[in-house]
Amino acid sequence: MSDAPLLEVDDLRVEFTTDDGIVTAVDGISFTVEDHEVLGVVGESGSGKTVTALAILGLLPKKTTVTGSAKWRGRELIGLGDKELQPLRGEEIAIVFQDALASFNPVFTIGSQIGEAIEVHHEIASKDRDERVVELLDLVGIPNPRQRADQYPHEFSGGMRQRAMIAMALANDPALLIADEPTTALDVTLQAQVLEVLERIQARTRSSIMLITHDLGVVAGIADRIAVMYAGRHIETGPVDQIFYEPRHPYTLGLLASLPRLDRKTHGQKLYRITGQPPSLIERPPGCTFHPRCEFARLPEPCATVVPALEEVDPSHRAACHFSEGLVGLTPERLREGQRA
Ligand code: SF4
Repeated sequence: MSDAPLLEVDDLRVEFTTDDGIVTAVDGISFTVEDHEVLGVVGESGSGKTVTALAILGLLPKKTTVTGSAKWRGRELIGLGDKELQPLRGEEIAIVFQDALASFNPVFTIGSQIGEAIEVHHEIASKDRDERVVELLDLVGIPNPRQRADQYPHEFSGGMRQRAMIAMALANDPALLIADEPTTALDVTLQAQVLEVLERIQARTRSSIMLITHDLGVVAGIADRIAVMYAGRHIETGPVDQIFYEPRHPYTLGLLASLPRLDRKTHGQKLYRITGQPPSLIERPPGCTFHPRCEFARLPEPCATVVPALEEVDPSHRAACHFSEGLVGLTPERLREGQRA
C-alpha cells in the first residue's frame, strides 16, 4: 500500500470559456484528504467548491480547461477519460448532490435503484444484493428498511430521500464520499438528521468525507479540517478548532460572526453581514480578491496590489491575508460589536 494521501490536489485550475470571457472558477488550489478524515470545504455559492469536486471526478463539460494535478492514491486523475474514470466513480469516490429528488428516477423503487448502483461494480446474487440494500438503508437511519426498499421516491420525505441518496452513494463502500451541500434544501431538524447520518457513517465505515457547504455551522461538529474558499481560491485552511476559535482571515471571521449562536444571548441583536457581493470570476479585483468587501483592507497598498499567498500562521493552519497577524485575539463577537456601533 502506498504512503500517498488518499487524495492529493496540487495547483488545480479550472477555466470555462463564455461569451463574456474566461471564467476562472478554480484558481490554483492545493489540498489533501487523508484516510478516515472529514474535510469541510466552505464558501459562498460560486466560490469553486463544487467545480473542484467535479473536476476531480472528470464530470465537467468537455470544453472546460482543467490543469494541475489531482492524484488518487498516487495515481493522476486529471486528463483521464470517462472510460478510465468510470470504475473509480462510485466504487472508490462517490458523490451526493443537494437535490435528491432529481437524482432518483421516479418510476423505479428506491431499493431497485440502490441495487443497480451495487451491480454496476460487482457481480452479486440477487438475494445478497437485496440484503445489502436493506443494510444500507438501515445504516442511514431509514425505519423499516425492508418495506421502504420497495417504495418509490415520491413516497419518501425530503429528509429520507436525502438519506437514501447517501445510502446509494455508499453502495460500494467508497473510500471517499463527497457530499455537496447535502443539507441545504432541508429544514433545521432534517439537516441535523443528515449530519448525524454522515457522522455515523464515518464512525462505522471509516470512509473519508469531503463535505461541501456554504454554511460554516454545518461542518462544526463533524469536520477534522476546514478549507475556506473565496473566488476560486483557498483563503484559509486548518484544523476545525483553529478555524473556529483562532480564525486568521477576515472572510472566515466574517462567516463566523454571521452565524447565529444558540449558546449565547444574542436575542434582539442583529447578525453580522459581510457587505458587498463575491467578485466577478472574469475580471477579478487586483491584489486580494476580498479587498472590496474587507473592513481590514489597507488600500491601495498592499491589499489592492499584491495577491496574498496562503501562508502558515501556525503549524497546519494557513491563511492568505497580508495582515493575518493583526487578527490574533479578534473574536466574531467583537466584529459584530463593531458593525453595530
Ligand atoms: Fe483584507 Fe487585505 Fe487581508 Fe485581503 S489581504 S483579507 S483585503 S486585510
